[in-house]
Amino acid sequence: MKNGGIYIHIPFCTEKCIYCDFYSLPNQEQSIKPFIKNLCKEILIRSKKSTIDWKIDTIFIGGGTPSLLSESDLENIISAINKNFNLNDLKEFTIEANPGEFDYNKMVNFKLMGVNRISFGFQSLNLDMLKFMSRWHTPEDSIRTFKNARKAGYSNINIDMIFGIPGQTLDVWSNNLETIVSLEPEHISAYSLTVEKQTPLYHLVQSDRVKMPHENIDLDMFNFTIDFLTEKKYSQYEISNYCKSKRECLHNLHYWKRNPYLSFGPSAHGFNKNIRYWNTRDLNSYMKNLNKNNLPDSESETLTQENIFNELILNSIRIKSGINLTQIKNDFNIETQQNILNKANEWGENLTIKSDCIKLSRKGMPIADEITLDLATSLITSN
Ligand code: SF4
Repeated sequence: MKNGGIYIHIPFCTEKCIYCDFYSLPNQEQSIKPFIKNLCKEILIRSKKSTIDWKIDTIFIGGGTPSLLSESDLENIISAINKNFNLNDLKEFTIEANPGEFDYNKMVNFKLMGVNRISFGFQSLNLDMLKFMSRWHTPEDSIRTFKNARKAGYSNINIDMIFGIPGQTLDVWSNNLETIVSLEPEHISAYSLTVEKQTPLYHLVQSDRVKMPHENIDLDMFNFTIDFLTEKKYSQYEISNYCKSKRECLHNLHYWKRNPYLSFGPSAHGFNKNIRYWNTRDLNSYMKNLNKNNLPDSESETLTQENIFNELILNSIRIKSGINLTQIKNDFNIETQQNILNKANEWGENLTIKSDCIKLSRKGMPIADEITLDLATSLITSN
């Protein structure tokens, strides 16, 4: 039987960061309690309508800023999940938290309720960079919060970091990584800052008030990250994610391996039985429907063979295990397997092909997107 996960989206933040396009609303503390009530309703209604023939082994509470939840909020969510789903196989229960917004007592109490992994959004350990991104915590908050989490007994902690921030030099980034590694987190995510449409950062860049770093600087930081973290014994198990031995994020692996997951909360995306669904990105509409005991507005898409193939290539190429050629033959056909193999050979040293798998080589990592686009054209259908 397959394994899968549950994702819960908490759409509240203290402030909105200038680069963020996640669905999250600032200054809405008063909305949290009524939201939790309706979230629990959604869990109940959706559980009745979903057929699950897989084991739930991960829960991930993301956002937004889930560390804004009180103990009783989390207790209500856990109780709703517990009443409606079988959690006997649960291995990993992650909560996202922002430094300075997760006090020690809350950490201890969340742990007592079953949370066993924290994902901290440090993003930078440089005050100017944090201010630029309109993050309101300080580097000192990050270090203190991390140490508190250890004291509270968490032995599985991720730290999210961002590079390619305007004004950030390779020196600043490397110093940040040195400090992060000295904390010995089990997991580090390092993403390049992307300029998403509809964000204040996008408008600043468009109007020339902010200049993003040249792509070579970004590339230098990406390469430095791989070399540095690998030397420090972190395994790059996904193109932007590193971990100590056996500390991969099981929940994110569900996404990358196309395992099923149910999602709850506004803007949350779920995947079950080759159907992808996503809830409305509008808290008012979400609340209105659930106040009437209806599911929130959502859209869904039944995946075609082509969609499935594209997703498989896009996700598999990013993870350490790579694209499995036998799976391509079994799930699609032998012609597609041969086609993708031919294309992979054309990429030379950018890919390695062995033990039935196509993987990105160190050289190919910076051009992963280009390679993905090319390999995704390998599908041969019978009609
Ligand atoms: S804290 Fe995270 S979710 Fe909230 S606005 Fe900032 S980046 Fe977005």
